[in-house]
Amino acid sequence: MAVPLSGATLAGATLTLDLVALKENYCLLAKTAAGAITAAAVKADAYGLGVARVAPALQAAGCRIFFVAHAAEGRLLRRVLPEAVIYVLHGLANSGISSCIEHDLRPVLNRLAEVDIWARDGGGRPAALHVDTGMNRLGLDDAEAAALLAAPERLAFDLAFVMSHLACADIPDHPLNQVQCERFAAYGAALRQALGRPDLPLSLANSAGILLGPTYHFDLVRPGIALYGGNPWSARPNPMAPVVTLEGSVLQVRDVTPPATVGYAATYAPARTARIATVDVGYADGYPRALGGGRVMAELAGVRVPIVGRISMDTLALDVSALPPGAVGPGTAVTLLGGAVALDQLAELSGFSSYELLTALSHRYNRVYKE
Ligand SMILES: *Cc1c(COP(=O)(O)O)cnc(C)c1O
Repeated sequence: MAVPLSGATLAGATLTLDLVALKENYCLLAKTAAGAITAAAVKADAYGLGVARVAPALQAAGCRIFFVAHAAEGRLLRRVLPEAVIYVLHGLANSGISSCIEHDLRPVLNRLAEVDIWARDGGGRPAALHVDTGMNRLGLDDAEAAALLAAPERLAFDLAFVMSHLACADIPDHPLNQVQCERFAAYGAALRQALGRPDLPLSLANSAGILLGPTYHFDLVRPGIALYGGNPWSARPNPMAPVVTLEGSVLQVRDVTPPATVGYAATYAPARTARIATVDVGYADGYPRALGGGRVMAELAGVRVPIVGRISMDTLALDVSALPPGAVGPGTAVTLLGGAVALDQLAELSGFSSYELLTALSHRYNRVYKE
């Protein structure tokens, strides 16, 4: 997965992925959803954290079922976890049937046409069915879902479970949650009856859906972001352990006296002489350019200092005037994410979601996995 130019020798900054915290988060979610099976969403390289290390850690914590978006992601994951059950959320649309069969991946069938293809050519292998209940993104629409209910024999394969996806789970009071939950329960019950399978498993909840309560758990839950330390519900304290820490280091320190300015477009013009530290992380490292401009803090020697001016491709600037002279120099470590700089806080300040922040983190870091 890593690009050739990554690694300790070339990277200045360090991304630490705490696999112990990851496993704790899995166990907390599994406990919260006790009675249901807890799977894991590891699409997009496990939300940017590195699926080759994340998936085995989750497996060690008890996870047996994994969700990826693309069959190509499933193919990589299959090499890492030969025994795991792997579902491909994008179904057969992009990958075709052969790569699913070849790598023992189970498609999540999103259209009736895919149901028919799998019934005809899937050799009876297991697959999941996705019905849309209000997200209007993927899954059978109402007409297709009704057609399938009228002709359940079209599911001529090992149907492993039926799923749907919540549009507003992170907004607990949103009325669509209950609407989707009721629609899904009704459809699940009808399909169970039509198939004569009263135990056909049902799955609705992502991370935020798990916190909505047991009504939403059904038989299988599919958390992603909460495993990686993200707050499932933005408006409440985060119950998850932080997993990701991003540390850069200072390259150079200088005093900037008015009317001098800092960085591209001269956007930071300190009112008094300011001490500016240039740090070796920029937007090419996945630290979004939108986080510049003095709204976001970094932590340096235990002190929170603002990120000022525009973020460059390979560097950003801190105003470290609050620190005693001599406290900051080349090599001083700077925490840009983790510790006092919480992922959710960064998300809130930046206007990016925690999902975007994590998946944007590049491979130009020295990646350290804490076991
Ligand atoms: C990404 C995804 C999940 C996981 O969602 P989180 O909000 O990260 O917990 C679950 N189900 C589906 C269908 C998804 O696409």
